Amino acid sequence: MQFRDSGLSIERAEEQRLLRAQVTSVEQLLELNKRELLRLPGIGEGSSSRILAALANAGLSLAEDPYAANECAREAKAARDAELRSYFLCDSCRDAYAQQAFGDRSPEWVSSERVEGYCCHCNELRTVRLSQWFLCGTCDRVVRSLGRGLASAKFVASSWADTFGSAPELSLRETDPVELRPRGRRSDVDRVATVDFVADDAAGETVLGVELKSGRSALPGGGIGKPMSTFQLDTTDCDDITTAAAALNVPVFLVHAQIIGRAHAPTERYEGVGLWFASPWEMPQHLKEVRSRPRERRDAAYFKTAVFRPFAEFPAYVKHAFPEDLESMRRDGFPFLYRS
Ligand SMILES: [Zn+2]
Ligand SMILES: [Zn+2]
Repeated sequence: MQFRDSGLSIERAEEQRLLRAQVTSVEQLLELNKRELLRLPGIGEGSSSRILAALANAGLSLAEDPYAANECAREAKAARDAELRSYFLCDSCRDAYAQQAFGDRSPEWVSSERVEGYCCHCNELRTVRLSQWFLCGTCDRVVRSLGRGLASAKFVASSWADTFGSAPELSLRETDPVELRPRGRRSDVDRVATVDFVADDAAGETVLGVELKSGRSALPGGGIGKPMSTFQLDTTDCDDITTAAAALNVPVFLVHAQIIGRAHAPTERYEGVGLWFASPWEMPQHLKEVRSRPRERRDAAYFKTAVFRPFAEFPAYVKHAFPEDLESMRRDGFPFLYRS
């Protein structure tokens, strides 16, 4: 009765299982790591957690697994696909990554070589250094998309200023700026439906909202390369637009920005090359179908891309057709963007 005799408060059934697996002493048990323990015949998740609890009670723990999964810096937990990911970052963005997204975790490694190039977060030409953290695939994709999102928001602001000229009837205000944050910080529960920008009239009254989507592809009538044939939008995004429109009591316009990468080796610069808008009143008749995205369980609404018009036409629309649309929204409400 080796385990109980040496003071470990382990259940008899667990002790019997260990003995049957030829583990006969506490010393021998402590040489194992959790992965090896689970591999013993007769030991499953249940027994293993009871054994671990008994060890913890006695102030003991199993050996460290040299092949344990790496910890994803953004989630602060082990993830099987967490691996070293590399980013060219300026000093201030590197600090922001560490403090705001990675729980004050410094990079695993920062190159001592200083390179003149584009920071993959702020997209500015700066002195950048290659910086590495362990991240899972999902977090890596999210973090990389933030730089593109920042570039996209700046592109919208500058296009707005260019398109409306020096005396804009409507001034644009960013309301949901891109933010670095740890994974899961903004849960679906406390998620407030908001839009990326609102536009105020000369009197300072908010008259419309803009929901920005960015991507690598063009839409008809501009941009670079072959236009997309359909535009897909998650139904949850459609619902958020509707909720935000109701909360603001103004129409929300979907805006698509084409953002492409230009090589500035070894870095990449993001450049906005096309901007389009869609009127919410035209979206329902351009809906092709609602179905789940390939390989995912989320539903998406698929729209004909003819619903989009070049953003250069937006000021004329605002001048001539928008007042009537705003009236109709205040009378009849915001249109349903899709029906499943
Ligand atoms: Zn930067
Ligand atoms: Zn992660």
